[in-house]
Amino acid sequence: MSEVNQAGRDASPQEKQRRRPSREPRHAMPTQTAGERVQNFDEVALGYTPELARAEAERCLQCKNAPCEAGCPVEVRIRDFIGALIDDDLPRAVAVLKERNALPAVCGRVCPQESQCELTCVLAKRGEAVAIGQLERFLADWDRERPRAQRNVTVHRPECSHRVAVVGSGPASLACAGELSLRGYHVEVFEALHVPGGVLAYGIPEFRLPKEILADEIDSLRRARVLFHTNAPIGAIASAEELLEEGYAAIFIGVGAGLPRFMEVPGENLNGVYSANEFLTRVNLMHAYEFPKWDTPIMRGRQVVVVGGGNVAMDGARTALRLGAQEVTLVYRRTQTEMPARDEEIEHAIEEGVRLVELAAPLEVVGEDGWVTGLRLQKMELGSADASGRRRPVAVKGEEWVLPCDTVVSAIGTLANPHIHEIADVALNEWGYLETDEEGRTSNPRIFAGGDIVTGAATVILAMGAGKTAAVAIDHALRDKQ
Ligand code: FAD
Ligand code: SF4
Repeated sequence: MSEVNQAGRDASPQEKQRRRPSREPRHAMPTQTAGERVQNFDEVALGYTPELARAEAERCLQCKNAPCEAGCPVEVRIRDFIGALIDDDLPRAVAVLKERNALPAVCGRVCPQESQCELTCVLAKRGEAVAIGQLERFLADWDRERPRAQRNVTVHRPECSHRVAVVGSGPASLACAGELSLRGYHVEVFEALHVPGGVLAYGIPEFRLPKEILADEIDSLRRARVLFHTNAPIGAIASAEELLEEGYAAIFIGVGAGLPRFMEVPGENLNGVYSANEFLTRVNLMHAYEFPKWDTPIMRGRQVVVVGGGNVAMDGARTALRLGAQEVTLVYRRTQTEMPARDEEIEHAIEEGVRLVELAAPLEVVGEDGWVTGLRLQKMELGSADASGRRRPVAVKGEEWVLPCDTVVSAIGTLANPHIHEIADVALNEWGYLETDEEGRTSNPRIFAGGDIVTGAATVILAMGAGKTAAVAIDHALRDKQ
């Protein structure tokens, strides 16, 4: 069978040579050393050089059915963007990537590709998947560094008359806004905080997702005619139903699930106890990461204990180290194997010196004169599997001890805001999250929703997938009403 190139013509001998997959192992991304990076808030991973990106792209088999694409919630044409990279056609590679993903520089940095596209890559079965996320990041960064006039511009459908309001500005909302603007709608985003981006702005620290990278992707949406209103909490300034009355044709709600879950143990209100949300918001939005330039009110503890085992806990622990803690301990009630955080984040945290105490649960925050002095822990063991399939932690009677510390950061999950009904009068499920069908329709046919406020705390890419799906459904609902 003859090989064909991207234009459908028979491939030239040079192209055939270029398309031969290399047998090299996966190329690791250069990073700052652990010793260097704990001294600063700069990005840990440094990104591929063009040579490394090309070499990694050449590992791709360019599979006919591209199983990697089935693992991508926003349906990026992965094989084609990697194919263009192999052909050294970077502008085409960027165009293919951005056609389906409004936030490639963000996704290339924080998406759990190992459980998405890279999990379904055929090479994963034989050893190591193509580093799809790192190639995505390389292309997004390459495009960002080009002169403005040369940068990729996504082609939009002609403008239509409908205005759509998007509530919240996390990844679900940004993906929804991007897709609607591509489809010609006038989109206005209403964000309660003073900065857009949701968790990408207030939660994920600078060393994993620099603020300027996020700001640039949001600027691309602005250039695509999306209008952002900040300091605009819907529910307080107007409800979704009032926005409909004001003339918006449809509403998308992507307000996330940002209410911290507390440990509910005695001593939780002592000085020095933070929820991870508050701790990370003070660092990210109140600029504690720029200490001493910004004198942010935050406890820069010497002995910090972070409770939890997810990405949020890793971010809390690694942030505490960078703020100058001498000792940071992660306390988790199961073992490292069951931790929900990305493997890369756990490895980075341990490399940086975060100590792990497995099979331990908080019983009490101990204090003196109103300030934290320790965390009393209960020894746990793993029992039978629970509903999530993970083995349930069970207390080992009589085995307790106090871990001395001056700061406790609780990162044990989040919930939906109980005031959600003030935003829209639509059906909620028994846990207080918005109820939608598979396309994001709520009980009001003109109000749609997606992301963490529907699924509970999940991932950036799942939120983006939900936002995009809802945008398509909104388009179908409104197209006929032009
Ligand atoms: P959010 O990102 O929560 O955004 C919701 C936005 O709505 C917020 O800006 C909020 O201020 C705004 N809002 C709320 N109420 C109103 C209102 N009434 N009016 C207007 N605006 C309102 N996922 C990954 O895939 N990879 C990671 O590495 C990762 N790391 C994480 C680290 C941290 C610290 C946290 C907290 C989460 C992390 N996640 C990660 C999870 C991921 O960030 C979330 O699943 C995702 O951001 C959810 O997106 P969303 O759009 O639904 O909501
Ligand atoms: Fe390339 Fe893997 Fe996708 Fe095949 S499955 S096209 S090897 S990235």
